[in-house]
Amino acid sequence: MTQRIAVLGATGSIGDSTLAILAAQPQHYEVYALSGYHRLDKLFTLCQQFLPKRVSVPMAAVDEFAQRLSTAGLDIEVVAGEAGLIDIATDTQTDTVVAAIVGAAGLPSTLAAARAGKRILLANKEALVMAGQVMIDAVKTHNATLLPLDSEHNAIFQCLPLEIQQDNTQIHRSEYGVRKLWLTASGGPFLQHSFEKMQQASVAEAVKHPNWSMGQKISVDSATMMNKGLELIEACHLFDLSENKINVVIHPQSIIHSMVEYSDGSFLAQLGSPDMKTPIAHALSYPNRIDSGAQPLDLYALSGLEFIEPDLQKFACLRLARQAMQAGTHATIVLNAANEVAVAAFLKNQIRLTDIARINEQALNEIQAPSLNATADIEDILAIDTIARGYTDKLVLELA
Ligand code: NAD
Ligand code: MG
Repeated sequence: MTQRIAVLGATGSIGDSTLAILAAQPQHYEVYALSGYHRLDKLFTLCQQFLPKRVSVPMAAVDEFAQRLSTAGLDIEVVAGEAGLIDIATDTQTDTVVAAIVGAAGLPSTLAAARAGKRILLANKEALVMAGQVMIDAVKTHNATLLPLDSEHNAIFQCLPLEIQQDNTQIHRSEYGVRKLWLTASGGPFLQHSFEKMQQASVAEAVKHPNWSMGQKISVDSATMMNKGLELIEACHLFDLSENKINVVIHPQSIIHSMVEYSDGSFLAQLGSPDMKTPIAHALSYPNRIDSGAQPLDLYALSGLEFIEPDLQKFACLRLARQAMQAGTHATIVLNAANEVAVAAFLKNQIRLTDIARINEQALNEIQAPSLNATADIEDILAIDTIARGYTDKLVLELA
């Protein structure tokens, strides 16, 4: 039977990689629904190519987009806005939701998919950073399946014992000998540069990642290493471990995508070309395997693999992520929101790259967000997110 897939964030980088696999495997997958926010011309072309049953666009574009589809003779239902995304994510016809929207905008639909018991392929790490506990609880309560697309988390997932992979309930990792997780990081485009050089970085330099081709926001996050900070928080929630059980190591070649350290001294690693098609294909076909279309690793052509301890002064965002994780969910919401605002300001040339960490730190230390209890829900989370964005907007204005 074919799996019916909804790709939320279809016009982005993860969307591209996902749709390339789906296009190559029509016998296994049906593209049931798509969403896009910017680049609606591209979304229109994807509609022509994949003929989904439903498509979600921003509220302001709905009439024009529907008209365009109908003029082209395409019978595709158009829905809009956050409600449209949630509608698609919870549609009884949708088997699998690829959560590939960037930032906090992806949280409501991802959470709705969990509550509808869907199989979720999660790229939108911000959903877990903001609402980790709520998301994981929803997955367990509604018997959803959460498979990580982020290459590091997908690598760790693959290196864990099958019992842990397939059990959403209480698993004591120590019984399986899991001692630590090792998240690998490329170090981004400024690994070899001084802090002063980083300070002068243009947007074009900051988004030019040495190994991966990605959307703008995550590329900037990689340059500041906030991406690894967000991934650390993501890993705590996905694998139910405290932050002190997760190490970060810079591995500039991006060949080892992450590792699990066991109590007997074994380190299990997952290796591959730096191509998101591999983790996406893994999650799509799990527990089977399909051809991803990624270039196989040429081991004979590989030169040395390096491992470096991160410099937490230069990459302060990594330190801030640990601080926020220790403080609690209210703090990870604040950090995520401040970072989204600061990154957007950097992309508009309003602040310098190195201001992002400064702004994040100030927001984290100065916003008095209430601690969230176990019954906190999405409204409580979004309330803190809104406060943090307002506060950070002011910090940006002061600097700009
Ligand atoms: P991208 O910017 O290339 O694409 C983002 C997608 O989200 C686009 O389809 C865009 O239209 C949509 N979008 C943006 N703002 C929206 C809004 N307000 N409402 C609804 N939709 C909106 O980003 P990406 O690089 O594909 O990353 C997507 C997610 O995957 C991010 O959370 C990122 O951290 C994560 N991720 C990406 C990669 C990668 O290699 N690109 C790797 C690991 C994890
Ligand atoms: Mg990653």
